[in-house]
Amino acid sequence: MNQNKVNIVIAGPRGNMGKEAVFMVENTSEFELIAVVDSKNGGKTVGDLDGLPNHSAPIYEDMAVCFSEHECDVLIDLTTPEVGRKHMEIAFDHGVRPVVGTTGFTDDDIVQLRSTAEEKGLGAIIAPNFAIGAILMMKFSQLAAKYLSDVEIIEQHHDRKLDAPSGTAIKTAQLISEVRESKRQGHPDEKEELAGARGADFDGMHIHSVRLPGLVAHQEVIFGGIGQTLKIRHDSINRTSFMPGVKLAVETVMKIDTLVYGLENIIE
Ligand code: NAP
Repeated sequence: MNQNKVNIVIAGPRGNMGKEAVFMVENTSEFELIAVVDSKNGGKTVGDLDGLPNHSAPIYEDMAVCFSEHECDVLIDLTTPEVGRKHMEIAFDHGVRPVVGTTGFTDDDIVQLRSTAEEKGLGAIIAPNFAIGAILMMKFSQLAAKYLSDVEIIEQHHDRKLDAPSGTAIKTAQLISEVRESKRQGHPDEKEELAGARGADFDGMHIHSVRLPGLVAHQEVIFGGIGQTLKIRHDSINRTSFMPGVKLAVETVMKIDTLVYGLENIIE
């Protein structure tokens, strides 16, 4: 534990996102990597893992044991929704503030976790998308939806992604529905010849999920009006795009005492 730095544990360090987070923490002078939590490799160190820096931080398979052996300020979780939820609860029990990029949390999860954060007086941030450009895409989409209420969302991700639609697509639809008059889009008599052809339905808007190798994280929001269309598109070309947002969330979570959902609520 270094008193002058933010002491961090990362869960999921071998994953695509977790790996980038290890490098980000390692390269940030105000942050200290205390330990990592992995689904295997307990007893080894970060330096023993392929593709990670030569760092002596220990690897734990059990987060509760990790927190009982090391004092730490922030947990960065980049795992899976079920695991991430459990990790957040363990973090709260040990007075640790979670920053969670893991996607797939339900509205009920958020409500319950926020109530625990407030009970404990701890900050927590869950952000389905840490890329600043993606936040701007969502904000611009909300603005456009005030004027163009017919909209479809197409999100595209790599084929190892577990949840569909993406957290970003759902968040975009939620932001749009705050300003858009609720309505069912498309022809009133339209019928799907193949189930799922029109995608998922969110308040009458359709969300389409593409999963292919080679993709990282991409989203296009298409608006249609009389005689015109508007497309707002964001592409994360690689996972370093998410790290400035993770860094900002770690800095912010130290100053708050509730759970904030969505990076857009912490950027100016
Ligand atoms: P990934 O490459 O599959 O990595 C997930 C990692 O979590 C794997 O190394 C996995 O290990 C590990 N893990 C699973 N259970 C664990 C446990 N109990 N304890 C510790 N580690 C465990 O996935 P990814 O692409 O990095 O994405 C991770 C999460 O972040 C996903 O939910 C994804 O949707 C989300 N994501 C968020 C953003 C954002 O900006 N917020 C951006 C991209 C992705 P095993 O392989 O051994 O199971």
